[in-house]
Amino acid sequence: MPNVVVVGTQWGDEGKGKIVDLLTRQAKMVVRYQGGNNAGHTLVVGGEKFIFHLVPSGILHPGTQCCIGNGVVLDPEVFLMEIDRLEGRGFKIGPENLRLSERTQVIMPYHQRLDIAREEKKGAGKIGTTGRGIGPCYEDKVGRRGIRVADLIDPDSLKAKLADILPEKNFFLEKFLGAQPFTVEEILSKYAKMGARLKPLVANVSVLIDQAVKQGKNVLFEGAQGTHLDIDHGTYPYVTSSNPVAGGAATGAGVGPGQLHRVLGIVKAYTTRVGSGPFPTECLDKIGDHLVECGVEFGSTTGRRRRCGWLDAVVLKDSARLNGLTGLAITKLDVLTTLNPVKICVAYEVDGVQRDTIPPTIKDLERCRPVYEEVPGWQEDLRGVRRFEDFPAATKNYLKRVEELVGVPIQIVSVGPDREETIVVQNPFD
Ligand code: GDP
Repeated sequence: MPNVVVVGTQWGDEGKGKIVDLLTRQAKMVVRYQGGNNAGHTLVVGGEKFIFHLVPSGILHPGTQCCIGNGVVLDPEVFLMEIDRLEGRGFKIGPENLRLSERTQVIMPYHQRLDIAREEKKGAGKIGTTGRGIGPCYEDKVGRRGIRVADLIDPDSLKAKLADILPEKNFFLEKFLGAQPFTVEEILSKYAKMGARLKPLVANVSVLIDQAVKQGKNVLFEGAQGTHLDIDHGTYPYVTSSNPVAGGAATGAGVGPGQLHRVLGIVKAYTTRVGSGPFPTECLDKIGDHLVECGVEFGSTTGRRRRCGWLDAVVLKDSARLNGLTGLAITKLDVLTTLNPVKICVAYEVDGVQRDTIPPTIKDLERCRPVYEEVPGWQEDLRGVRRFEDFPAATKNYLKRVEELVGVPIQIVSVGPDREETIVVQNPFD
């Protein structure tokens, strides 16, 4: 049975949540492999809205085992709040449907305070982080001073680690950032309690995945953010602190790359970006307003208005290569309705020379001007369409052109937020 990795191909917010939810129906296990609660999936199921930041949305499906992989950074407070909220809505949460890797890094309160104080100090040069401590937590992971779930659930280990780490954190907070320090006791009393609550869910997730694979179960690996926010391959430094690319699923979940059989790239029919950083196809005009309004482009975690622009095939071709995409899922196609013509960026132009790859520096990317191809738009409301054949000719033409430019087949098309508003051209699990 094939395993599928779902990745965002742009700058995140491609509508992965809905596609993951759709595919979860066929998966016995769903694993999140990177990121933290800066990701947010919004799902509409039967008209009811669900927002998830950490818990995989597969939790809504009975019989699906959801796992948080070692590559994630976990804010235990947020995680427990999501569990409480789900339980409040009648979902039963326990080890049978939710597991947490013992190797997952824990976001501590000093990470959040550092994140916020640093951004404040940077002023105009800020990266646009969500202030949730994700970046500082990943820094500590690589700096080998992170606190992992295995430590969180062991009060002695937690106390020893805090006593070791806090003097340096406090020095930096107080002396460099002018922020308040922490005491071991204040953190310990709160975090040891949360550790005790989480303990029944803690497991060696790599072993669980291995067992699922050996039993022939479909596993879905769920990436957060998007390819161009990848710490290595994205528009550095305006990136996230982890590897959303498909390869990140191997390290972030604890599976061999050979187990990642299919890679489905989620493509929003236009481009959006939250926060700072270059964005060649950004539309600061009526087109941008149309996309924000019709696409309801406000962050599900932060509520921030997203920057919007035309689809960028340079970005998508890059994603196809970096992830080894085997299929595309086009989302929010309905949002393009009434725009005419519809534009697709097919290359960048710098000093009269065209290029079809993304330059490595912000300075060079800022100089890139989009080269557009125009295709006819359509006036028809697409939200009732359930078969590819029933799309207006112009819509089909647009989709075919995207497929050609990216060189990867379209497997799914989404025409509205609800689960039913989806056309599956080819099942990614086949
Ligand atoms: P994610 O984190 O990648 O899931 O992205 P977001 O949190 O930005 O979710 C995308 C938003 O768009 C959610 O509010 C979805 O309900 C909505 N959405 C998803 N697919 C479609 C679609 O095909 N059309 C429209 N109009 N909205 C969609």
